[in-house]
Amino acid sequence: MSDRIDIAVIGGGPAGLSAAINAVARGKTVRVLSASETPLKRAETVDNYLGFYNITGGDLMKKFEEHALALGIATEHGRAANIMPLGNYFMINFSGNIIEATTVILAIGVARIREIPGEAEFLGKGVSYCATCDGMLFRGKKAVVWGLASDAVEEANFLHGIGVDVTFAAKGGRPEELNADIPFISGAVSEIIGEKSVTAVKINKDIVDTEGVFILRQAIAPTNLVPGLETENGYIKVNNKMETNIPGLFAAGDCTGVPLQLSKAVGEGLVAAQMAAKYIDSLK
Ligand SMILES: Cc1cc2nc3c(=O)[nH]c(=O)nc-3n(C[C@H](O)[C@H](O)[C@H](O)COP(=O)(O)OP(=O)(O)OC[C@H]3O[C@@H](n4cnc5c(N)ncnc54)[C@H](O)[C@@H]3O)c2cc1C
Repeated sequence: MSDRIDIAVIGGGPAGLSAAINAVARGKTVRVLSASETPLKRAETVDNYLGFYNITGGDLMKKFEEHALALGIATEHGRAANIMPLGNYFMINFSGNIIEATTVILAIGVARIREIPGEAEFLGKGVSYCATCDGMLFRGKKAVVWGLASDAVEEANFLHGIGVDVTFAAKGGRPEELNADIPFISGAVSEIIGEKSVTAVKINKDIVDTEGVFILRQAIAPTNLVPGLETENGYIKVNNKMETNIPGLFAAGDCTGVPLQLSKAVGEGLVAAQMAAKYIDSLK
């Protein structure tokens, strides 16, 4: 029996949870997969969301989460590192676990990412965003882990444990939890160097020889998350049905463009869920 779900929602902010409750209302099986907390939690007061005047972003988000939980939707925490469109379904690499879904709704918010030279060019040729997914490919080889996310140390320790020759780079001092056998460089990776695949990275002004580099950021650019996804000015290109250029792949919320506001995110979540449900029904 297949464990394939109907809809995988990537992102547990307002757009993602709105999509999820509306997908459940349409009788679809749903999982919400989310990396970190929504930026809404940082809003001191929200005054423009209908029915909730003068509320903190944290309290409003709590209400959204309670609503979702009441319908049996608990956000699962982790990072979607890669989403592969495979014709009539998708394969999602979620913190090292593979999830199959007939449709995917991207509700990933705005990725404030500055890609570094060589990153896109060597993606899959030494550059990876997920240690637990790709670690085995680097067994017995050198790999640099660039830690920009809170779980990066754990991932570096994991790579060391499976026999990768790891160097950990991050701003600031050596993290306490980092395995004592892993060399640490204080700084940022500024360039990825190679020919057919990665051969080195530049950290500060030094060239460090390596066959792999794991860039562990909280967010991943949409075009790196899903191969072939079309964007415009950095936002995911959608039509008014929240369809992307890839059949079965929808997007909602801040990731589709301005205005970067709650009401738009929640409304788009609803449309994306309804259109995903319709798409699934059309396959039968
Ligand atoms: C300080 C502040 C104040 C604000 N005040 C207001 C206001 O008063 N009124 C208003 O309308 N709007 C306000 N906003 C904007 C509002 O918060 C956003 O419009 C809204 O949160 C967008 O919702 P979203 O679901 O599209 O994205 P987000 O809330 O950004 O959620 C996206 C989620 O996706 C997750 N994610 C991203 N990539 C991945 C991945 N690869 N794998 C798994 N998960 C992933 C993220 O961790 C995040 O949890 C404010 C924002 C901020 C920062």
